[in-house]
Amino acid sequence: MNSPSENTHNSEGKMAQIRAIRSAHPGNLMARYFSEDYFNSLDESKRARLWRIIRTGIENPDSQMGAYARNSSDYEDFEPLLGPMIRDYHNIPCGQEIGQKHDWSATTSRCNLADIDPALNGVSMRARVGRNLAVFPLPGAMTKAQRLEFEALMIKAFTTLQGDPQFGGDYLSLTPGSSHAIDEGTYRRRVEAHQMFKDMGGDRYLAAAGISSDWPFGRGMYVSGSEDFIVWVGEEDHLRIMAMRQGGDLAALFGRLHDGLEKLARLIPAFAHSSRYGYVTSCPTNLGTAMRASLHLPLPRLTERGRNLEPAIIAALDFGLSVRGAGGEHSDAGHGGLVDISPSARLGVTETEIMQRLYQGTAALWSLEIES
Ligand code: ADP
Ligand code: MG
Repeated sequence: MNSPSENTHNSEGKMAQIRAIRSAHPGNLMARYFSEDYFNSLDESKRARLWRIIRTGIENPDSQMGAYARNSSDYEDFEPLLGPMIRDYHNIPCGQEIGQKHDWSATTSRCNLADIDPALNGVSMRARVGRNLAVFPLPGAMTKAQRLEFEALMIKAFTTLQGDPQFGGDYLSLTPGSSHAIDEGTYRRRVEAHQMFKDMGGDRYLAAAGISSDWPFGRGMYVSGSEDFIVWVGEEDHLRIMAMRQGGDLAALFGRLHDGLEKLARLIPAFAHSSRYGYVTSCPTNLGTAMRASLHLPLPRLTERGRNLEPAIIAALDFGLSVRGAGGEHSDAGHGGLVDISPSARLGVTETEIMQRLYQGTAALWSLEIES
């Protein structure tokens, strides 16, 4: 235990670091909204909790958000700091009620990328939602025993799901010694197929937040026999539930995700959910729907043949879309300028609106690509 004077000394050092980050990295939202007066108003135990939440943003000045929640209650308990960061990222004006709503009705409407351009029929489509169980701390604060207990609970649910004609499949565990364990080569192939998550130990943002601790214990994935319904266990959120396929029918992709999500939810304890922020996630960027719907789109011209993501990132801003490399967050463009595009906002929009934004944004970006 640090003595009170040591704590004060450490706090002053960290506050000086945050001031330096604020001027050198204006994109770091934690540094932008951190208030020393607010921090000083907290008691010792809340100060210690807050340091753990924002440690990732102090150790990684280039962070976009710079904070990961460790418990569902963090969003209410640290609202004076996290609230403004959340509004900034999701573009929700100060004073506007958030009150997250859910709406999956567009799964039954026509929404096909081939209507934009037949050339888009066949792109890789993915829609995922993050979910956390209310009965466990968020991944950054889980003990190794809790990670294993959580995986065991999921294996039980997956065993039931295996009997389902539409969603039956296999659970592949990374936990050493698990009866579901897969070998290194199988893991690598699943990562290369974009089905499985990368070695989290290599992610300094997650490491500083404790989210990748105890890797690879308690981690794994469920994949349906058709390989288009996948559940990640133990990544940035307890669960990342996704539908993924090649084609153009976005409504069918969303329908597949929604059906699988509902089936799985019936087999496990309740998800952490708040009336203001919707589904609670580790990263504030994922709150609300916790949905990221993405396409792997070839944008050779807007990425200077894959050499520079910047022009695509700037063009996509106007349509509310984010651009990542085709290897996922923090990667470069893939072969032929293949990039990952997805609507940026996940909070204050419904699932249906996200699908519409993806469709309309793709239409707009695609017309720039083929005209530019
Ligand atoms: P998320 O945080 O939404 O899970 P990441 O950027 O961390 O997304 O990427 C996770 C994995 O999903 C990566 O392998 C990435 O290439 C893959 N991925 C994302 N979108 C698509 C897509 N539309 N088609 C195929 N793979 C995708
Ligand atoms: Mg990710």
